[in-house]
Amino acid sequence: MNIIFLGPPGVGKGTQSRRLSECLGVPIVASGDMFREVRQTDSSLAREIRGYMDRGEYVPDGLTIKMVLNRLQQPDAMVGFILDGFPRTVPQAEALDEKLETDGRRIDHVILLEAPQNVILERLLGRWICSNCGRIYNRGSSSPQAPDTCAHCGAPLVRRTDEDPEVQRYRLEVFQRETAPMVEYYQSQGRLERVNAARPVDEVSAGIKQIVDGAVPA
Ligand code: AMP
Repeated sequence: MNIIFLGPPGVGKGTQSRRLSECLGVPIVASGDMFREVRQTDSSLAREIRGYMDRGEYVPDGLTIKMVLNRLQQPDAMVGFILDGFPRTVPQAEALDEKLETDGRRIDHVILLEAPQNVILERLLGRWICSNCGRIYNRGSSSPQAPDTCAHCGAPLVRRTDEDPEVQRYRLEVFQRETAPMVEYYQSQGRLERVNAARPVDEVSAGIKQIVDGAVPA
């Protein structure tokens, strides 16, 4: 099963991708995580990517498309994948469709997670991530048992380096501006399935599961 999660930063794509990935046994392909790995290396590419990310801007399409499409060719992604954070622009969506069609594959579900801006900002500003396993915690809604460590593996929780409040606001703006046409790309083809992500996390997961199982969402 090949799935795309769309939605603004902070809407819960990471959490929901992880849950669905465990349920379906397919890998998550998160372009943001891939860029965070690359940016740690010592190379001119890493410096270039750090610049875009630290400003809250998008990495150029050419680079992003190449990186993600290569990843989708890996053996583990042949059984299925969940895309989180890609595509974000119309050229990315088109390149993905073209490549999958050439390979005789296709996207089964394009799921848009939606929530009002104030809910998203509250989540973004309260978000911490496990330095070891990458689990996401929100200080507002799902605090881990120990305040500064991961409830799953015990490693320290950290803020993401690109999660400065001003950068967050800017990332939301960039999403509205740059990504709306890409949402329209799927909407106009009748491929978009919307989920209200302002609800508690388990309800959101249940809504997603209904879509993936082929049931009509409530
Ligand atoms: P994310 O973790 O998905 O919010 O991504 C973090 C940052 O990585 C973004 O703010 C962008 O700078 C970059 N990035 C991730 N995915 C993409 C993409 N599909 N297109 C362009 N830039 C991206």
